[in-house]
Amino acid sequence: MDPFEDTLGRLREAFRSGRTRPAEFRAAQLRGLARFLQDNKKLLQEALAQDLRKSASESEVSEISTSQSEIDLALRNLRAWMKDEKVSKKLAVQLSSAFIRKEPFGLVLIIAPWNYPVNLTLVPLVGALAAGNCVVLKPSEISKNTEKVLVEVLPRYLDQSCFAVVLGGPEETGQLLEHKFDYIFFTGSPRVGKIVMAAAAKHLTPVTLELGGKNPCYVDDNCDPQTVANRVAMFRYFNAGQTCVAPDYVLCSPEMQARLVPALQSAITRFYGEDPRSSPDLGRVINEKHFQRLQGLLRCGRVAIGGQSEESERYIAPTVLVDVQETEPVMQEEIFGPILPIVNVRSLDEAIDFINRREKPLALYAFSKSSQVVKQVLARTSSGGYCGNDGFMHLILHSLPFGGVGGSGMGNYHGKFSFDTFSHHRACLLCPSGMEKIYSIRYPPYSPRNLRI
Ligand code: NAD
Repeated sequence: MDPFEDTLGRLREAFRSGRTRPAEFRAAQLRGLARFLQDNKKLLQEALAQDLRKSASESEVSEISTSQSEIDLALRNLRAWMKDEKVSKKLAVQLSSAFIRKEPFGLVLIIAPWNYPVNLTLVPLVGALAAGNCVVLKPSEISKNTEKVLVEVLPRYLDQSCFAVVLGGPEETGQLLEHKFDYIFFTGSPRVGKIVMAAAAKHLTPVTLELGGKNPCYVDDNCDPQTVANRVAMFRYFNAGQTCVAPDYVLCSPEMQARLVPALQSAITRFYGEDPRSSPDLGRVINEKHFQRLQGLLRCGRVAIGGQSEESERYIAPTVLVDVQETEPVMQEEIFGPILPIVNVRSLDEAIDFINRREKPLALYAFSKSSQVVKQVLARTSSGGYCGNDGFMHLILHSLPFGGVGGSGMGNYHGKFSFDTFSHHRACLLCPSGMEKIYSIRYPPYSPRNLRI
């Protein structure tokens, strides 16, 4: 017995009926999504606090208002985005109408991770609904309190003939992926990204893969260490370090490290107090498995700051590691926790070489008072996104595409990029039915005249 057959059949039929195509229908779904956020803000904040001990401020900034602003933007621009895009023509089709039509793919699957379990389900959903698709949403089973709200409450705000939330972990998601979808949007680890892409390949289904990895953070000698420390600490320890775009490790000279470590200590104390465990602003590791994994990483290099942990509440103190070797586990896997290793390099060239030897990251950061240095790192490396002299602020702009490259993923979204991702760009040419005299110059028998068309 296939648990998904009926649901998927219902959604496919709804798509074929054409119900999701009109702008009014799409706008109604987006307004429903906005109402879901407004009516259930407290419920969502409670769920996020239970799953990740996320503070109300972090939930507001990184989950709820981010999703809301994507909805607002889509509602404001829906009709403009849906408009056919006129394109330039050649002499041979001068009398025809040439345009790109953005049409929905059909039945779309969105698979989400647990670290921003509202944002990373709803923001892709905005794009999929705005583009006129039917959607199956598969939230993460690991952020189980948020998953419960998404499955029990969200469907009430959307047209249930066109939208469904399904539950499950690896086994159920594997079963789901055996079905044919018209598009799959996956956010998660590179390991599972490969499973998703292999399953999609069986049906030639296009995919967007929003993956993770290790995001380098180069700190030049020409920097104010305290400014850098404030910014790196904020973005490393936000959501207890469980952010795909968090600075994963610092590359700097031993001289800069000697100035940066006390500055990081000062920033951590100002942000989270003398005892970060009692700070309401520091999140917790999602589960026991990740807590144990992070315990292993704490044994790499030497602890310069933090290092304390408390298993009963999955607490790990904001930690800085020094004397870290490239071959140690903390430099081999994505950290995804409140641990920041510092690796020493002797020059900018060595830092760039270090970065380029590894998988292309999702985000790359460079700090320097010299704009030349910031621009050099940009010019000589590759990454999904890049931010000079700050943490992951490039995410907040709807005008920038968000996505990875190489090992950090493929495709992108946010703002209009989401709408485009979830739309097939159909090439259209509408020719006059008459004017045969003019058109007949193309036909055989050929002469030099044909070749000029
Ligand atoms: P994950 O890959 O373990 O799980 C993601 C989703 O895939 C979940 O819904 C899960 O149920 C499903 N899944 C897990 N194993 C599966 C399998 N064998 N077959 C089919 N489906 C399976 O990722 P996670 O632990 O939830 O999230 C952390 C990872 O996600 C990190 O690598 C992080 O960098 C990445 N991430 C990327 C972004 C981005 O926007 N690029 C955002 C957040 C997280």
